Amino acid sequence: MKRKIKEDIALMGKRLYERRLNGGYGGNISVKDNDMIYITPSGVPKDILDYSDIIVMDFKGNIIEGQGKPSSEMLFHILIYKVRDDVSTIIHAHPPIATGFAIAHRPILEPVHEESVVMLGKVPLLPYEVTSSKELAKNVGEAIKEHNALLLANHGAITVGDSLEKAFRRMEELENLCEMLLVAEAAGGAKRIRAEKLKELFSLIKKRNK
Ligand SMILES: [Zn+2]
Repeated sequence: MKRKIKEDIALMGKRLYERRLNGGYGGNISVKDNDMIYITPSGVPKDILDYSDIIVMDFKGNIIEGQGKPSSEMLFHILIYKVRDDVSTIIHAHPPIATGFAIAHRPILEPVHEESVVMLGKVPLLPYEVTSSKELAKNVGEAIKEHNALLLANHGAITVGDSLEKAFRRMEELENLCEMLLVAEAAGGAKRIRAEKLKELFSLIKKRNK
């Protein structure tokens, strides 16, 4: 199996930890490569992951390579890859500020910050389901069809992307956004971007991406 992918995942564990987006044991990271999924093991803190800890499994959850057990939350990783062809990376983390919003059961549905609108769009909140459960996986698999970032009530967050970098930047943006919202509340309340200006913003981005 590909050592480079394993190294990139291990490095991402450290980046999430150092950027304070995830505690040691929390969360999990995976990368899809053809019909294989590379995923972090359960029970190894993310800041001390070694490339050799990364598990390779197929889409049925059978271990192809690796010593440990794949993350107990592998169910929703498999499901996300099944419903989103364009996604090749999933990061699930417990970033403290965004998770605070998830604990308060507050989704982020209003367009209040330009970069977040572009990078994240709406961030819905999924109801609390016990970690690793089929119910959690089912809800995630449904919501991810329309979104690139999710909040899991009383638990944490999920971001996806076509690269580790993209999924990481989305997680970082989500955490930044939640911090900005907290400050906005203290400063008098967040105000949304006007609808016609949103339209203008999206047409500008469309032009840039051409
Ligand atoms: Zn979790």
